[in-house]
Parts: sequence; structure tokens; C-alpha cells
Amino acid sequence: MVINLHNVSFKYGNMNVIQEITTGFKPGELVSLVGPNGAGKTTLLKLLSGTLKPSSGEIYIYDQLSYDLTPKNRAIWVSMVPQNPKLPDEISISDFVMLGRNPHLGLLQWESKEDFNIARESIFLTEIDYLSKRKLGEISGGEKQRAMLALAITQQSPIMLLDEPTSNLDISHQMKVMKIIKKIHEQKSEFGVTVLAIHDLNIAAQFSDRILLFSKGSIAADGTPKEVLTKNNIKSIYGSEVTIITHPEHGTPVILP
Ligand code: ADP
Repeated sequence: MVINLHNVSFKYGNMNVIQEITTGFKPGELVSLVGPNGAGKTTLLKLLSGTLKPSSGEIYIYDQLSYDLTPKNRAIWVSMVPQNPKLPDEISISDFVMLGRNPHLGLLQWESKEDFNIARESIFLTEIDYLSKRKLGEISGGEKQRAMLALAITQQSPIMLLDEPTSNLDISHQMKVMKIIKKIHEQKSEFGVTVLAIHDLNIAAQFSDRILLFSKGSIAADGTPKEVLTKNNIKSIYGSEVTIITHPEHGTPVILP
């Protein structure tokens, strides 16, 4: 397992947000976290990225206790695309994406040609080359989301955590970004890139190996899209009656309100 959680709980003040979660993620798994607003999905990603510490229980990343990791080691292993990060307005997109190489550089070491090539490749892959010289403060929400994904790809970490990476994107870029994520995951799967991402139900249905359905800080269902995204599960967790059909091309479930 790349990540192991053992009885992990988290509280904001005295409000239980994550309740005794025990699970693990294998190398190369493409996992989606789904569930109603407030179920604890973002909090779980923040616990995995080290932004938050569990109130109790342990998280292991490659068999090392997560909170024992140095920030540099953590950044070599784990990249994170947060949902609404505070970003500096003045930095250019190309410099921002280059920040992904920082964990790989020694003290006072400059980026090498190889580092620039890796960043350039991520910029092309996420189709933000036309923005390279622009500043972060001068681009749209969707463009920022792609710039953050480019930075995470540049980090070349074997674990990627993505908090709604397509939420600000138009449908064309949503599909493109999901294909990029899938490509990265497949290209590097010999190194074991594990992607954990929060998605809406239909994106999760189409693009995941495994889905964790969250409810009130616990995992209510865990399995393949077909196993998890059933009429009954959605009724009991979201309280909504939905129709589920099979995608004509992919054979995956499609949830219709
Ligand atoms: P999700 O990502 O599933 O929508 P979150 O993990 O963001 O859920 O939130 C889980 C719960 O924790 C919600 O009830 C939310 O209001 C609460 N919460 C999130 N962030 C904070 C915070 N910084 N302080 C206090 N409560 C928070």
C-alpha cells in the first residue's frame, strides 16, 4: 500500500468531521472521493497532504508516519491541487509551474535544463502555454486550476491529491483534464502514481478504478463505480431518487437526476 489510514479521526473544535477511517490505497490506483457537501472529503485530502493532523489514529505514507515526514520528503511523494488556495498574484505562470521542481533541488541549487523541460512538458500537456508569460492574478479560475495541475504534474510525485480539479472548467477542458490525469496515471503506473480526487458523481463514474462514497465523515461504500453508484446508495446517502443508465460508449454508470 502507498497510503494506509488506521482509525483516523479528525475534529474541528468538538465537531467530528472524520470518524475512525481505516483504509488503504495501492500503487497506481485511480480513486474518486464522492459524497454530499460537508461529508469530510476535503478534510480527508488535507489530512493526507499534511495540511491537517489527525485528532487520533495514524496515516502512513510508504510505511512512514505521515506527520514524521519533512515538508521536502512529503512534497517528493505527495502533490496536492487544493480547491481554493491563496496564490500570489504577481508570479508568472511559467515560474509558478517551476515551483513544482523545488522539492527536487538541493539547497542553493538552480533548476537544470531537465527541470525546465519537465515544467515545459506539463505546461504543454495542460494547454496553458499561451499563458506562460501572464501572471497568476491575470488569469481565470479555470486557467488557474490548469496551472495548479501543471505544477502538481511538474512535481512528479507518485501520489497526487486533487480537490475538484475540474470544478471551474468548461466541458471541453473537463474532459481534457480528466484525460491528462488518466494519461499521467497510466504513463507512470510502473512507478505507481496513485491519484485520489474529489469529483462529482458522473466524472467519478467515468474515470475511476475505485470510488469511496463518503457520508458524515465515514466511508459508506467502497468499490468499483458500478458497485458504489447504485440507486439505493444514492437514495440513502444523498436522499435523492435518481435514474442510472449505462454510458453507451464506456459502459460506466451515468446518474440522471
Ligand atoms: P466536503 O469536502 O465533503 O464538502 P469538508 O471536509 O470540506 O467536506 O467539511 C467537512 C465538515 O467540516 C463540514 O461540516 C464543514 O463545515 C466543516 N469544516 C470544514 N472546514 C472547517 C474549518 N476550517 N473550521 C471548522 N469547520 C470546518
